[in-house]
Amino acid sequence: MTTVPPTVPVIAYIALGTNLGDRQAHLDAAFTALSALPGTRLLARSSLYETAPLGPAGQQDYLNAAAKLETTLAPRALLDACLTIEQARGRIRAERWGPRTLDLDILLYGNTTSQDPHLTLPHPAMLNRAFVLAPLCDLAPELIIAGRTLAQHLALLNQTGIRRIPVA
Ligand code: ATP
Ligand code: CA
Ligand code: CA
Repeated sequence: MTTVPPTVPVIAYIALGTNLGDRQAHLDAAFTALSALPGTRLLARSSLYETAPLGPAGQQDYLNAAAKLETTLAPRALLDACLTIEQARGRIRAERWGPRTLDLDILLYGNTTSQDPHLTLPHPAMLNRAFVLAPLCDLAPELIIAGRTLAQHLALLNQTGIRRIPVA
C-alpha cells in the first residue's frame, strides 16, 4: 500500500455506527468532522438505519450510516483522522464489539487493497454485514466488489433487524 498522498482525489466510503449516548448527535458530529478534513469533500451521506447489535448481549440498538468522500488524504492519514473523530466523541475501547459512542470504519478507498491488520482494505467484514451494506447501497448500489454489485451482496444477507429511519 502506498503511503504517498494521492495527487488526484480518491473516492472513499466510510461506515458510521453508534449505540451509546446521543446517537444522532454522534453521527451529525461525525459527518461534520469528515467534511472538514483537509483535502476532503463529503459527497453524499446515506439514510440512517437502526440495527440490532452484533457482539455482547444487553447493548442498545445501533444507528448506522455511510459517507461517500472525495479525498486527497492517504489511506493511513484518513484512518488516523477517523480514529481522532471517534476519540472526540468519547470512544472507549473495552470489550470487542462492545457498545461505542462512535465507530468509523473505512470500507473502501478507491481500488486500494491492503492486508495490513492496522488498515485492511476493503474492510474485511463489509460484505457480511447488512448493517454496513444497507447504508452503503444508498450511495453505491451498482459498485462491483468481489464479482457482484453491492446491492447483490446485500440481497444475499438476512436483513432482519435493519430498519431505515424516515427523514424527519
Ligand atoms: P470491526 O473491524 O470488526 O468492525 P471494530 O470496528 O469494533 O471491529 P475497532 O476497535 O474500532 O474495531 O478497530 C480496531 C482496529 O481495526 C483499528 O485500530 C484499526 O487499526 C483497525 N482497522 C483495520 N482495518 C480497518 C478499516 N478498514 N477501517 C477502520 N479500522 C481498521
Ligand atoms: Ca466496525
Ligand atoms: Ca472500527
